[in-house]
Amino acid sequence: MRILVVEDDVLMANGLKQGLARAGYTVDVAPSAETAEASLLTEEFDLAVVDIGLPKADGLTLIRQLRSRGNRLPVLVLSARGTLEDTVSGLDIGADDYMAKPFRLPELTARIRALIRRSRSVASACLAHGRLILNINSHAATLDGQPLELTNREWAILEALLIASPDVVSKHRLLQSLAGWDKDITPNAIEVHVSRLRAKLSAACVEIRTVRGIGYRIDAPAT
Ligand code: CA
Repeated sequence: MRILVVEDDVLMANGLKQGLARAGYTVDVAPSAETAEASLLTEEFDLAVVDIGLPKADGLTLIRQLRSRGNRLPVLVLSARGTLEDTVSGLDIGADDYMAKPFRLPELTARIRALIRRSRSVASACLAHGRLILNINSHAATLDGQPLELTNREWAILEALLIASPDVVSKHRLLQSLAGWDKDITPNAIEVHVSRLRAKLSAACVEIRTVRGIGYRIDAPAT
């Protein structure tokens, strides 16, 4: 899962980036509404965390522009302006959630998980596929009840494939969900992660199929 953090305060941005990365997310930081707008037009994200007070255009303007284009990306506002009026106007403009600073990281990550679940119509915290279960909240995978060790990138790929199953997930989409600007991930790297995942899932009757020239998919579990 890839999150865009729109935040001009460098310390705050770095803290968020580290905290969210520890929670298993790929994080890009945009220090202004303008840079955020540029990335949102060209890159794909699963959620944006948006500060209101930004150097030129503010966060509310950014959200208004996003919604006026029909973009339904989940947006969580994280702002020092925590009055009732600020919260109401943020939500009315199209934010999905609003948290005042100072905030606690566990609450932020819990709200992020809830927003992402809602946006993907995943009602429960678990993605199950036969004997394989991914718990999105705890980031733990089990196979037949036994822990299955996955790297963050393997997790991200498997999660995207299971959410989309039985539809195909394009290689481009997988690259987008894994790539921060500072990491040059290549299509070959995706293939390497997928082949490692296949090895780890070989006992699980979960087959990651290659759809030539497009991407990968996982069939619905046999019933
Ligand atoms: Ca700010």
